[in-house]
Amino acid sequence: MTEPAENKSAAVAFRTLGCKQNQFDARWLQSQLPGDSFTVAADLHQADWIVLTCCAVTERALAKARGELHRLKRSHPQAKVVVVGCGSRYQPDQFSAADFVDQLPQEFQIAGYSNGIGSNLHGSHGLVPQGRSRAFLRIQNGCDQFCAFCIVPHLRGKSSSVPEAELQQSLQELVKAGVAEVVLTGTNIALWGRDLNPQADLLDLLKSLSKDLKYTRLRLSSLEPQFTPLELISWCTEQENICNHFHVAVQSGSDRILNKMGRGGLNKQFFTALSKIKKARPGLSLGADILVGFPSESENDFQATIKLLEEVPFNYLHVFPYSERQGTPAASFPDSISKTERLARAANLRKLDSELRLNFINSNIGRSADVITLSEKAQTKIQGLTSNYLRVQLQPGQISSNRRFTTKLSKTSFNL
Ligand code: SF4
Repeated sequence: MTEPAENKSAAVAFRTLGCKQNQFDARWLQSQLPGDSFTVAADLHQADWIVLTCCAVTERALAKARGELHRLKRSHPQAKVVVVGCGSRYQPDQFSAADFVDQLPQEFQIAGYSNGIGSNLHGSHGLVPQGRSRAFLRIQNGCDQFCAFCIVPHLRGKSSSVPEAELQQSLQELVKAGVAEVVLTGTNIALWGRDLNPQADLLDLLKSLSKDLKYTRLRLSSLEPQFTPLELISWCTEQENICNHFHVAVQSGSDRILNKMGRGGLNKQFFTALSKIKKARPGLSLGADILVGFPSESENDFQATIKLLEEVPFNYLHVFPYSERQGTPAASFPDSISKTERLARAANLRKLDSELRLNFINSNIGRSADVITLSEKAQTKIQGLTSNYLRVQLQPGQISSNRRFTTKLSKTSFNL
């Protein structure tokens, strides 16, 4: 690494893997760097420091982070690499090639990070890089559920909510900055408010946050069905300023497996109501997380998942083959499923995912959409994101001076 010349600020570049929480953490770090000592480098070749934020949720995520670390060390020998995030907290020894693992170098002069990833609930909760139309607002961190397969609560701790007044203030800052979409993030956002005194819930928060929004829309990140009241879903679908999109952490359609996972069985009432809501509003986007190959998942259990996916009209799936996480109860469960079978089940559902996505795209052609612009670099190649979570290609004639506008979708919107 070349020593920065006196009075020259050091350049820091960020590489972020994993979920929206990691993206939030990386942006938080970025926002805390003292501006007189550091600049943010978009080009990794210019960086004196590279901060790699990594994920631990599956073996694949961890392997990807390790691979990325080696690639960064090889291609950017001028930079020191700092690895943070769930992955480095979970297995720091896997990142021994990094210069700093699960800790920040003193040079960064950032207080409050020493308590670990995700504990930085202080300071601004809403963060957006300059010039972007989307921002994340972290409303809580951690989870009380401790599902048998999940390492996240072990790394991020129990649920801790940001008080409503602070969220209101952060949201107002984002609104003033002209942000068109704010994604409400957290480890398990449906738990928001349970740890506050007096207790509150996510629906109350949404009513309060969305009340005076005129231009900015809110999007919910993933919802856990066992904690999400149906009233919340039906109320959201009637709001102009809440995105027409829910992502549900389904994981399995088998009651037996869900119980083994410690997720309280299949919430049939929830899925029946969700299907009804979707049938009444075909434009609504429904996504699901599915975990396949959990210990003892039989062919019948897997078929129960497929049956649920046939019954509930989801529009896309995020499919994860189960991987053992040391320190979680499921890692020592008997009757593990072979890796080949896990991958085969995942491939089966990914095929279904492709079909669902294509069907949803086709069903949106000709419809009007509430769109925000995602990139403002080149006027000819501007991408947009619809309220119902479709990425679209915007044509020059469709672009408005606002970052959020309504437009009609056509085949060209999807490069078809
Ligand atoms: S509810 Fe979600 S975040 Fe919480 S332990 Fe279960 S899978 Fe992990």
